[in-house]
Amino acid sequence: MTGMNGTPLRTHRCGEINVEMAGAEVRLAGWAGKIREMGGVTFIGLRDRWGVVQVVFESDELVAAARQVKLESVISISGRVRPRPEGMVNEQMATGAVEVVVEGMTLLNGCVPLPFQVDQAGQASDELRLKYRYIDLRNPRMARNLEVRHRVAQSVRTFLSGEDFLEIETPLLIKTTPEGARDYVVPSRVQKGTFYALPQSPQLYKQILMVSGVDRYFQLPRCLRDEDLRKDRQPEHTQIDMEMSFVTEAEVYDLVERMMAKLCRESIGLEVETPFPRISYRDAMNLYGSDKPDLRFGCPIQDLAEAVPGCGFGVFEKAVEAGGAVRAIFARGLSGYSRKQIGELEEIAKRRGAGGLAFTKVTAEGCEGGIAKFLSPEFRQALLANPECREGDLVLFGAGDPQVALTALGAVRLELAEREGWVPPGSWSFAWVRHFPMFEPNGEGDGWTACHHMFTMPDEQGLAVLDSDPGSVHAHLYDLVCNGVELGSGSIRVHRRDIQEKIFRIVGMEPEEYEAKFGFFLEALEHGAPPHGGIALGLDRIIMLLTDSPSLRDVIAFPKTHLATSPLDGAPGTISGAQLEELGLSIVPESED
Ligand code: ASP
Repeated sequence: MTGMNGTPLRTHRCGEINVEMAGAEVRLAGWAGKIREMGGVTFIGLRDRWGVVQVVFESDELVAAARQVKLESVISISGRVRPRPEGMVNEQMATGAVEVVVEGMTLLNGCVPLPFQVDQAGQASDELRLKYRYIDLRNPRMARNLEVRHRVAQSVRTFLSGEDFLEIETPLLIKTTPEGARDYVVPSRVQKGTFYALPQSPQLYKQILMVSGVDRYFQLPRCLRDEDLRKDRQPEHTQIDMEMSFVTEAEVYDLVERMMAKLCRESIGLEVETPFPRISYRDAMNLYGSDKPDLRFGCPIQDLAEAVPGCGFGVFEKAVEAGGAVRAIFARGLSGYSRKQIGELEEIAKRRGAGGLAFTKVTAEGCEGGIAKFLSPEFRQALLANPECREGDLVLFGAGDPQVALTALGAVRLELAEREGWVPPGSWSFAWVRHFPMFEPNGEGDGWTACHHMFTMPDEQGLAVLDSDPGSVHAHLYDLVCNGVELGSGSIRVHRRDIQEKIFRIVGMEPEEYEAKFGFFLEALEHGAPPHGGIALGLDRIIMLLTDSPSLRDVIAFPKTHLATSPLDGAPGTISGAQLEELGLSIVPESED
């Protein structure tokens, strides 16, 4: 067989054959992607990572040999490059001006009937696509995603090395991490009855590296979180994780902006403008109803509360009297929306907890339709005088609890952008969202939880009122967002034990609990911890945006299903009785009810 006696299996790559090579003898190897017989000759689209080239079998003997080749078999051919005849050039293919006339072929390996065609994976079920991931990954789109991912990782590594960062690995078997999700746990055989946690992030280790004097750390760590999965979540994700000593918020922004600009350029040739705009959490919520605002289009939310007293519409008046909000968006040019369309938008608002979605329309006569008949002339006047208001607008209102009204209108704004194509094609909008509150009320409503994580430093004013008024404390906490997607979060950290202990107590931990969980870390802070800060960006999400992929699964080589299973290898699986015994574990059968 070719290759066995030292003859190379290929001299060139399929995707790199071009018209300048006309007349050249080549040897190629790859997968038989498309096979067609026409007018007594056989064409095979031979594919490798670099692309597809058409190879032609012309003699009877070669046509007979080509008939034995099944779709996706692996073959090696030798032949001569020739320009395609006039009129046969395929503009859609990079190699479409040439073909290779086959002189000899070796079948390197066959292929059984396929579970789905390489270019039709989109029609296969997720389960099947993941089970036969190797077929799915042969698709040029998927192969490109892996390539972009590689380029981004390389770009990050060279950039951060150039900025004096050290790439340091932190352990996988650890105690527990504070990111707030459920841990994946690993039983210890040596210390029976004890468990390691898999890291949700290297947070504490990277901080301890700062105490160690490393000064600038980065890693592309795998982070594991046992969460209920949604489309844009995976149990394992990769971060671009970094930490710096003696750093300010502004220095973190500058570094990350330069890194993002470089990686966008080097991975997909995208030029992004820096510095990125900065917006406070409060403005992001008030104007866009989201802490990850999509700034590629306008339609900001407007505050109408001032005009409400005496406006004539009871729902609004009651909302404002109760200390709530009345906000609106002016949907440009959509006054022609039907009841049905508005009803669909109302459903979206209701899913965010809103009671309904009041509306009116702006016409040449003023306000018409919807709640217009209830509104006082003064309120209508105020509406028409709003700087966002134009004739032809559909005005959609949110009233009541400010958070609910804002998030409902924010969701409606995004839906309208999707329906109406408001996002200019090819537009990108990075931004920093900053000045977040440090704490938010916990689920039970009887205490506080940290908005990001508990290792975030309150700002100067916040430190003064940390004990007396935690709800008012803001933190040195920032998110990088792009096109309405949160790419990552970071903060300036607490580097003093006393402040860290206070924060543990505010989120409801007793000293026994925090000593048991984080005592080692508090101790590290006491041993000369420098001021420090950092950020972690979601590598998978970045690749998803850069490759315009609909799902995180498309940018991870071997992702999990929504049930956190891997159809490819059948993980998770059971373990043997002997293994259980060795670990000192026994399985409690699930009860029937
Ligand atoms: N460890 C944090 C996270 O995974 C990021 C950071 O604060 O650096 O979200």
